[in-house]
Amino acid sequence: MSTVVNPDLNKKLSKFGNKSEWNECFHCGNCTAVCSLTEDGNLFPRKVIRQIQMGLKDKFISNVDPWLCYYCGECSETCPRDANPGEMMMSARRYLTSVYDWTGLSGLLYTSLPALIIAFIVIAVSIFGVGFAKQFNVDSIMSFGHHFEKYAILSVFSLIILPNIFRMFWFTILKEKTKVPLISYIKGTWDFILHMFTQKNSLKCENNTFRWLEHLVIVFGYLLLLFTTVFLNWFSTENTFIIWLGYIAGGVIFVFTFDFILSRIRKNKEINKYSHPSDWLFVIWLFLMAFTAFLVRVFIDTDLLSNNLWLYMVHLIVIAQWAILIVPFGKWMHFLYRSFAIYFANLKKTGLNV
Ligand code: SF4
Ligand code: SF4
Repeated sequence: MSTVVNPDLNKKLSKFGNKSEWNECFHCGNCTAVCSLTEDGNLFPRKVIRQIQMGLKDKFISNVDPWLCYYCGECSETCPRDANPGEMMMSARRYLTSVYDWTGLSGLLYTSLPALIIAFIVIAVSIFGVGFAKQFNVDSIMSFGHHFEKYAILSVFSLIILPNIFRMFWFTILKEKTKVPLISYIKGTWDFILHMFTQKNSLKCENNTFRWLEHLVIVFGYLLLLFTTVFLNWFSTENTFIIWLGYIAGGVIFVFTFDFILSRIRKNKEINKYSHPSDWLFVIWLFLMAFTAFLVRVFIDTDLLSNNLWLYMVHLIVIAQWAILIVPFGKWMHFLYRSFAIYFANLKKTGLNV
């Protein structure tokens, strides 16, 4: 198969993150040697840098290596050329997210701040319009909000997330014509589920246990809050157990995400030195979502919500922006793509051995 060279790949990738310091890379191999995750023939991040520098777009797009990196920042700390390979892997993940996305919106929202701001404003105005149409009646708006959450999850999952995961599968396995025995798909399923919920590979990075634990708590807190609000109707229930479950989930998320926001402001670790707008949006919106949900329930329990509908409106706007923009097109998808990448990487290995 002939290899097409795309000289613009480097320039294109620069739009998805920090400026292209990776051009400074002279391939000493330090980063690959220091990375605790380079094993079994995965020679990242150097191999990825090489593909970008040489404009090997097809090979780069079929490569799952950028998803196997957990951004511990060790490679960037030790790079003698300050090429910032850790941030390069992050930029590569943003770029690949846009490649997998069939709508093209992901690429637009990652690379154009004005488009991102306009999209957020359009959603806020639309939700305000719904409130206006319902004459700002608390019960009516809350019923709309509850149904909106269910339908948003269903539509985003079936129309965007599933097709995009399939596109990832196409680019990394099918297009490459990797022949994988059917049994390997089945055998890898348990490992896939385990990685998805625990992200256990990040424990291989040095001194990463606390960060891994923080992420784990947030993932389970997020899933619990989603389950409590969407399926157990947290805002309408009178069941004490469900009410406290929601309080715990919401509280845990906003406390932990607040810590993430502080770390990004302080820039005290290698991984926090550079923050793309999508990084800020992800942590701030996760925080706002949990914090406003927590406050809404407090206002319900203290009979203050009917006179303070603005709080529920703010919560609904945050939820809508999160569900329609950040989940399908932003950093939230990294969580899914990474889990699938581990699955696909294992399939590729069995495919090579057929
Ligand atoms: S350590 Fe720096 S210069 Fe060396 S291969 Fe990695 S990115 Fe390139
Ligand atoms: S950031 Fe960490 S996990 Fe990612 S390539 Fe560098 S050393 Fe490896």
